[in-house]
Amino acid sequence: MMTLDEARARDAADPLRAFRARFTLPEGVIYLDGNSLGPLPVSTPAVLAEMAGQQWGTRLIRGWNEGWFDAPTRIGDKIARLVGAAPGEVLACDSTSANLYKLVVAALRLAPGRRVVVSEAGNFPTDLHIAEGAVQAVPGAELRVVPRRQLAEAITDETALVLLTHVHYQTAERFDMAAWTARAHAAGALILWDLSHSAGAVPIDLNGCGADLAVGCGYKYLNGGPGAPAWLFVAARHQAALTNPVSGWMGHAAPFAFEDGYAPAPGIRRWLSGTPPILGLAALEAGVDLLLQADMAAIAAKSAALFDVLADIGDALGLDCASPRDAALRGSHIGFRHEDAYALCQALIERQVIGDFRTPDILRLGITPLYLGFEDVVRAGHIIADVLASGAWRARRFAVRQAVT
Ligand SMILES: *Cc1c(COP(=O)(O)O)cnc(C)c1O
Repeated sequence: MMTLDEARARDAADPLRAFRARFTLPEGVIYLDGNSLGPLPVSTPAVLAEMAGQQWGTRLIRGWNEGWFDAPTRIGDKIARLVGAAPGEVLACDSTSANLYKLVVAALRLAPGRRVVVSEAGNFPTDLHIAEGAVQAVPGAELRVVPRRQLAEAITDETALVLLTHVHYQTAERFDMAAWTARAHAAGALILWDLSHSAGAVPIDLNGCGADLAVGCGYKYLNGGPGAPAWLFVAARHQAALTNPVSGWMGHAAPFAFEDGYAPAPGIRRWLSGTPPILGLAALEAGVDLLLQADMAAIAAKSAALFDVLADIGDALGLDCASPRDAALRGSHIGFRHEDAYALCQALIERQVIGDFRTPDILRLGITPLYLGFEDVVRAGHIIADVLASGAWRARRFAVRQAVT
C-alpha cells in the first residue's frame, strides 16, 4: 500500500495539482462522490452573481440578444470538444432523461421498418424507464432489455436503436464504444450512448467511433451544479433526418415568427423544446470552461493511478472489487461489494469520507483527478480501515439490519 510520504511525493509531481485550488471543497472532507455531484468551482459563484445581478438585473429582456439565446449552442460546442464531436453537433439542454426521450423516439421514427430498442438489464434506471415510455409513444415499438452477455445476439435486423450507457454507474465497466457502434451499424441499427459517467472522466471520441447519438449529464464530471442542464449529441449526418418529438417553439426554425405550424430549426437547435434555463446554463458553462483547461489524457492517467491505490487498499482490507482492474475497461470510479455496503458508507460519511451506496451491495467511490490527490485517497484508505475495524461500525451494522428487516 502507498504510504503518506509516497502519496505526497506523487502529489508534488502531479501535472494537474493546480486544479485543486480551483474548487471549493469543505475543510476536512475527502470527496469521493464527484461522479454523482461535482463540487463547486471557485469561479462559479461570481459567474452566477454576475448573471443575476448584472445580466438579469440590469439588462432584463435584452439579455436574450446578449448571449442568452446562444447559450445552448455555445456551451454545446464547448462540450463537443470534450467528447470528440464537431461544432454544431452538441446542444446543452434539458435533463439527461428528457434528452433520452427525444432521441429514442426520433430514432424509432427514422426507421419505420425496425421496431425494437435494445438495452442492457441493470442500465441506469432512468435510461430504461425513459425507453419504456418512449416505445409507448411510437406505434408497434418495443423495448428489449437483456443482460450484457446477450446483447450481441439481441441486436438484429429488427433493431432500430441500441441504447447503452458507456460507463456503468455501479461497477464502472466501460463498453468499447467503437466496437459496439460498429456492431449496431452492421445490423443496420443506430446507437445512442449515455455518457453521463464518461464525459469529463475518460477520453471519448464520438466521431472517431462513428457514433450516431449521445446524451450526457451536466452535474457529474462537468461540475455544472445540482440539476445542471444536460446535453445531447446528434452526428451531423443525421441532423436533417431526425426531428424532435417534443417540438416546442425554441426548436422552431423561426421562433419569433410565431407561426401556428411547427418547422424544425435547421441544425442542432431543433432539439430545444422550451426556453433554456439561463441561470443553470451559466453555472454549467463555468464548470465546462474549467474542465477544458485540463488535459484529458492527464486526467485519464491520474484516474488510473488513483484507482490502483484504492484497489490496493481494498485488497489489503479484504474488500471485493467490483470494477475492472484494466483501466481501458472502466470509467473513473471504483465499486466495492460488501454485504453491509450501506452501513459502511454511512459510517465513512460520518468520518468525512464521502462516497455513496448503490443498491444492493456496492460502496462506490468516485475518482476525480482534478481535485483529488494521492494523499486524499491514502487518507481515505486509513479511515476505511479504521471504520472496518471499529466496534462502532459493528453496532451500526446491527442497527441497520434491524431497520431494514
Ligand atoms: C446520472 C445519470 C443520469 C441522470 O439523468 P437525469 O435526467 O439528470 O436525472 C442518466 N443516465 C445515467 C447513465 C446517469 O449516470
